[in-house]
Amino acid sequence: MASRYLEPRLERAPRAEMSRLQARRLREQVAHAAARSPFYRRVLRAAKVDPARIRTLDDLRRLPFTTKDELKQNQAERPPWGDVLAVPFADVLRIHMTSATTGRPLAFLDTARDWYGFYHSYARSLWAFGVRASDMVMAAFSYGPWIGYWSGFHAAQDLGCCVFPAGGLSTDQRIDALLTYPITVLGCTPSYALFLAEHAARKGIDLAKDTKLRITWHTGEPGASIPATRARIEAAYGARAFDLPGLTEIAAWGFECDARSGLVHVHEDYVYPEVLDEQDRPVKPGERGELVFTSLYRKAMPLLRYRTRDVVQLADRRCRCGRTLLALEGGVLARLDDMKKVRGIIVYPRRVEEIVRAHRDVDEFQIVFRRVEGLDDILVRVDPAAALAPTERPALGEALAKDLQLGLGIRVSVEVGEPGCLPRWDHKARRVRDERTEVPF
Ligand SMILES: [Zn+2]
Repeated sequence: MASRYLEPRLERAPRAEMSRLQARRLREQVAHAAARSPFYRRVLRAAKVDPARIRTLDDLRRLPFTTKDELKQNQAERPPWGDVLAVPFADVLRIHMTSATTGRPLAFLDTARDWYGFYHSYARSLWAFGVRASDMVMAAFSYGPWIGYWSGFHAAQDLGCCVFPAGGLSTDQRIDALLTYPITVLGCTPSYALFLAEHAARKGIDLAKDTKLRITWHTGEPGASIPATRARIEAAYGARAFDLPGLTEIAAWGFECDARSGLVHVHEDYVYPEVLDEQDRPVKPGERGELVFTSLYRKAMPLLRYRTRDVVQLADRRCRCGRTLLALEGGVLARLDDMKKVRGIIVYPRRVEEIVRAHRDVDEFQIVFRRVEGLDDILVRVDPAAALAPTERPALGEALAKDLQLGLGIRVSVEVGEPGCLPRWDHKARRVRDERTEVPF
């Protein structure tokens, strides 16, 4: 089925051919960064790396890593752009910001060609979901300097779709548009998908029945690759939901495909992925590690060996779709920055979500890491579905506590509140609170 791929030659390239392409682009990127980026010139000199000697993909391992903290520090010391910038400012077309939870966000600049690479790889993902020119698309991300809205908008336009500009619209206006126009595809964060569906349901609108949606895609958070979260989104919209992981600093780097095999493919011609263990050695297929990316296309800020802090598992099986692109099992499994240690046990919030979302009667939840009588404790607060009778709430709490203890290997306190007791999230959710590190006011 040729139409399954937007770019069959690249998506199904034999490994030797892909490696040759990657090695050529890697040489170009390293030479460009060394020649044009003062930041990388310093970094490579300090690491005693001669850029001319980086010839093969194996040589890449001799390059030092780049971290987000270094980039932030660089922009703070040399405002406003830092000196990673490797092109004249006149060549810059786009600016985007990372969504920072603390401190000033990182500003990321792109040339016209860089930007084309960002949205064209994204378009390839949309195509893999089944989006075609005949679709009408709504990218329901917030309008602002964040890359989510712009990249989704431009990617859909790149495929020839009619895109409904919904960045600055309210949730009510977006629902009205979904009911009025033949919008078949919706892109948003998974948290917003649930928020929007709940909001519509409260107004007596069934998005699955009352709209023409057939595909939803989700980015900004890994929810769409969590089976219970995805099932919930698919039921609410009567559509197929897909995960599209990306990073402002790197690319819209991955996508699930229409084979729905639980794998996330990586656009390997745009980014060179490494999956590294705790000693920074490459893991074997089937093993987990931190995802590290080298950009193979961006010239304005050409990041080398960028530590994503995302934990992934290298697939040890092929996807049924026939793509040869490297695949990861289940998308982004955890963020190293989200890892919590409770009484010696490592807990990732994504695992809690997997367990909680499997309970149909939970509308929203919150995870609180706290200290009770000097001991670490996890509290999961639950916002129950309005349809659940108040007398059933204790049973829900008990069932959830049992599943969480089984799934996490640690006892968890569960508190079931009143419907609507917890905040909803119209962008990326902040469901985790760690009171052990937060300073009380
Ligand atoms: Zn596939």
